[in-house]
This record gives sequence, structure tokens and C-alpha cells, in this order.
Amino acid sequence: MQQWENAVDAFIEQNKQNILRDIGRLVAVPSVEGAPEPGAPFGPGPKAALEEALKIAGELGLATRNCEGRIGWAELPGAEPDKYIATITHLDVVPTGNGWDGDPFVMREKDGWILGRGVADDKGPSVLCLYALRFLKEQKIPLRYGVRALLGANEETGMADVDYYLKNYPAPAFCFSPDAEFPVCNGEKGHYTAKLVSPACGGAILDFTGGIAPNAVPDEASALVRADLAALPAAPGITLAAENGAVRVSGHGKAGHAAMPEGTVNAIGLVADYLLANGIGNEAERAYLTLLHKLHAATDGSALGIAADDGRFSPLTVIGGTMRMEGGRMFQSVDSRYPTSTNGEAITAALTAAAAGAASIEQVAAAVPFYIEPDAAPIRTLIDTYNEVTGEQAQPFTMGGGTYARHFPLAVSFGPERQGTVLPEFAGPMHGANEGAEIGPLFEALKIYILALGRLQQLEL
Ligand SMILES: [Zn+2]
Repeated sequence: MQQWENAVDAFIEQNKQNILRDIGRLVAVPSVEGAPEPGAPFGPGPKAALEEALKIAGELGLATRNCEGRIGWAELPGAEPDKYIATITHLDVVPTGNGWDGDPFVMREKDGWILGRGVADDKGPSVLCLYALRFLKEQKIPLRYGVRALLGANEETGMADVDYYLKNYPAPAFCFSPDAEFPVCNGEKGHYTAKLVSPACGGAILDFTGGIAPNAVPDEASALVRADLAALPAAPGITLAAENGAVRVSGHGKAGHAAMPEGTVNAIGLVADYLLANGIGNEAERAYLTLLHKLHAATDGSALGIAADDGRFSPLTVIGGTMRMEGGRMFQSVDSRYPTSTNGEAITAALTAAAAGAASIEQVAAAVPFYIEPDAAPIRTLIDTYNEVTGEQAQPFTMGGGTYARHFPLAVSFGPERQGTVLPEFAGPMHGANEGAEIGPLFEALKIYILALGRLQQLEL
């Protein structure tokens, strides 16, 4: 194995510039989801990025396939034709947002980092997977199982790419997704979403708006209410302003991700509590605000009666990300990440009980949790490889976020981000401005992926 390792090190050394160049080629294709066009089911951007990635794979001598613009792959054949191991990454990106120091679609290099939309999520890892296959080909490593690098085009906005793939192609015997954090994530919580919908109350609340995404705790929300501004008291996190003869009650909280809401302050909750505390609203409105209070009072779901803990995952979380008012009805989104000791039906039943007739529970969807025992052979192979290369003694972890992994019969996410990485001031996180990836750890991740793909070949899958 030492000989192997030396070959991997030499391969990476020789290919550093090519790898960075190819990541830059993918970053240069703006691949945010767009309106569907013929041959481009997720819009022209993701289609073009998929084509560019397959072009890179072809240049590396890999066989490729474009699955109708939805997903594609590069692959090496194995001795057992029916079984293959896969990696899965994605080529679509989230919108750039504000605050960039340079063009988000021109990759920049600075102090050992690369910067640009997608360098970390997930174009950089996509290129790593292609080079991992290139190594196996170049070294003529005998493969028992085929190795396929799946390249998705719709991860950020629905994962319809992988649903399409699994409907039309045989699933891999084992798959890992370099689209999260090291070491190995062997479980993802269930994901419950719904809307709490009020009747048309016809009372004091004229408008209620907050949040930008159902999966994020909002830091801004406001309600326009019929009230006497002079009679309303000040309150922490609340500002008041006269507007069209009514009062705008604005809440200012602390934003965060739905899967990790600890330490956040939900602005919708601040506004709801302020209205309740100051006697604003008719009976129907106050009954609905009381339900909002239960939702926002505790992110562990205890006030709603949905708290749950199974000892494997961290306890259940719940947040309300967006509030809208339409046709006099209020729509509060609910996002809960739940462990194996509860389920979607139980959560809906508890929400219905908590609502006590003040709201209907609508647009319910629930994706069940997935969990693979941490001592399953492929998981051990990944974690052992990671620990050997890094010198760490890490253990697999579980999380509330969702990746491609849960869609496959047997899959996990596997790097390449490092927990606890401190970003330099010029670099931002995945989905943020100045998205950055540190070059050294990227190449170390490539080494881990190559060795892991080699070792998975030894297992009985
Ligand atoms: Zn991603």
C-alpha cells in the first residue's frame, strides 16, 4: 500500500496545475438553475457546466455519458459488470448574491486558496473525482467493481437529477458524495416541511412578512397592524414605525440554518410575541399568534409537543423560516429535522393538536431519516482512509442537513470540507460571497478519495 501512496502523491504533484485549471473552467460556466429549455431541463447554465465537465473527463481519457442534460458520468469498467462504486458531485451552483471582491465566475487564487462560485460546492470536488478516476486508469489498477463519477446538475434546487438517474439506471453498490464535510456522515435526519395556514381573520393584522427561505431562520420580519403607535411600548429587537395610518412592527433577530438553529433568534417569533404581549389582533388572529409562539419559542420542538431524541442523531429541531400573507390568510413555513424516534405523521398530528383549530397544516412533506451503522465495512474503509492520511482519529458523524446520499440505497457524504476550518478574511463559505477552498486540503482530499476508491475494491459489496 505504501507504494500505492507514493504513486498517488506523485500523480497529485504532477497534476496540481491541471486540476486548478479545470476547476477554473467549471467555475467560468455560470450554472445557476434557469428556466427549462429543450435539452436543458434545469436551464442552460447547468447544461453547459455538465457538458464542460464531461469534456474534461473525455480529455482525461474517461468514458462519459450525458443523461439527457440532467446528470452525467465518467467511468472506468470493472470485472463485475453489474456492480459499480460511484462518487456523486454536482455542477449547479447557488446564485452569487452580493459582497464579492471579484467576478464570481472568474476563479482567483490567493494565499493558498481558490475563490469563485462553486470552488467548494461542488465544482472543485467534481474535478477531484475525475482526477481520481484518471489515476486508477493511468496506474492500470485492476478493478473488481466499475468506478463511476456521477455529475449532477440539480443538487441545489431539488435533486431531480438523482431521482431521474435512479429511475433510469441501476444504482451503485456503494456511493460517496464529496459535497459535505469530512470525516464521514453516516446519517441524515428526517426532513419535515409544512405550512401553518390561518383562516382569513379580518382583524388588526394587515400584512405579515418575514424570511427569504423556508430552511433558514430569518433575521428580519415585520407586520403591519392597526394600532395606536403612541400607546405601544419599546421592546428588545423590535422597532415601530407609522405607515399609512397603521403601525409597522419590525423584528430584528439572528439568522442561521434550519439544521443548526441553536443560538439563532427568529424575527417572526419576535413580532408574533410582541403582538401577543400588546393585545393586538382579534380572537382568530391571537389564536394563530399563540401557535406561532409555540413554534418559535423553542427550536427543540418542546413547545409544540414534537421534541424527540433517539440517541443516534442529535435531538429534533424545528424552525419557521418564512411568513407570507395572501388573501388575508397567513402562511408560516415549518422546517423540522427529526431523528428516527418520530415521523411525519406524528409531527403533523402534534402540530394539529397545537394549532387547536387556529390553523390548518398544509403542504406537508417528509423525507425519512437515513442511517448506516458506523461499523459497516464501506464506512470503516472511508473513515480509516481519512484517519490514515490526516493522522486524525475521527469518527463518523450524523447531521440534520440533507445531501445526495439519502437518495441512494447505500451512500454517505465524505468531505471535502473540514470541520472547524477558519476562513481567512478574503474567503467566504459555501453559498456565500467569495466562496473559497483551501488548495492544500483539496489535494489531500484527492489522495483520500483515490485511496478509498482503491480499498473499496477489496470489499464484498
Ligand atoms: Zn453542494
